[in-house]
Amino acid sequence: MKAGARMPATILDGTKIAHDIRREAAAEIRTMAAAGVRPGLAVVLVGHKPASEIDVRGKGKACEDVGVYSETHSLPETSTTAQLLALIDDLNRRDPIDGILVQLPLPPQVDAKKVLMAVDPAKDVDGFHPVNVGFLSTQRPGLVPCTPAGVIEILKRSNIPVAGQEAVVVGRSDIVGKPVAMLLLNANATVTVCHSKTHDLAAVCRRADILVAAIGRAGMITRDFVKPGATVIDVGMNKVTDPIEFARLFAGNSKREEAFQAKGSTLVGDVHPEVADIAGAITPVPGGVGPLTIAMLMFNTVKAAKRQRQWLVASG
Ligand code: NAP
Repeated sequence: MKAGARMPATILDGTKIAHDIRREAAAEIRTMAAAGVRPGLAVVLVGHKPASEIDVRGKGKACEDVGVYSETHSLPETSTTAQLLALIDDLNRRDPIDGILVQLPLPPQVDAKKVLMAVDPAKDVDGFHPVNVGFLSTQRPGLVPCTPAGVIEILKRSNIPVAGQEAVVVGRSDIVGKPVAMLLLNANATVTVCHSKTHDLAAVCRRADILVAAIGRAGMITRDFVKPGATVIDVGMNKVTDPIEFARLFAGNSKREEAFQAKGSTLVGDVHPEVADIAGAITPVPGGVGPLTIAMLMFNTVKAAKRQRQWLVASG
């Protein structure tokens, strides 16, 4: 390598980290099983969105793999808020169910906020209930949203220092941006949260030692947004089907080109692939943050089960 040339970024392998977390959850479940306790997860699915159905099948398979009891409640697209509330009430009361997950999005006639509010906070394995949001922001033990918790696990398990670092989070959604920012703050980073009204976004992002992109815009974070050597965590998951958009992101990448030709689409993060030339470490898409979401769901289900069954363990 020429003097002054940069090393390519370290690729943060989310698939491996997720596998480790699932293995640890499975070991805990075996210990619990020996004492006659089996964590249980109920997934509520409304309608027939293919992406949601694939996601729910993935969650069921993960439960099977780690030893969590799981049941899926599939309701018709025409379901009402009242019907969902009745089901949640039943699941809240059932002892074998430690975790309840309502697959989003819900159809428009359903009051999603009301439904999520009805989930017992102790069983809220998605960590979306305001009680758990409050626990997170006041640093009390609670259930933390899975994808944001996964972001922190990637940093922690990759030995990336967080305390005292400048962290910039692009995106302020309740399910990703805000909880990621809160977790980074709780880990003593100096945190800036950006959104669509932020002035000179690139300049703000260039301050980051840790840059988290949770935007939902394919390849929006280009090299101009990144300080050389920064850690870049790409939460984005965008399906690209437009050949011009594809070429902007992957021109010259023969492996991706072949797959795009065959499938007619490709999965892209919010970070442009060129950022790998300038970042110190980066999560790929696919294979970065994505696999952590289900792994952290397993972790949360075990955590909820331990709490509800007064399982005496050291971990929170
Ligand atoms: P969201 O609810 O649509 O929020 C997007 C955020 O990005 C908003 O805060 C928005 O700002 C901001 N934003 C949009 N355009 C922007 C721009 N041009 N400049 C600066 N900020 C901009 O999305 P989300 O649910 O948080 O998801 C974000 C991404 O993560 C998506 O690609 C999603 O698919 C992915 N995701 C991945 C996983 C996983 O398992 N890996 C899980 C969840 C989500 P405003 O608030 O001002 O509108």
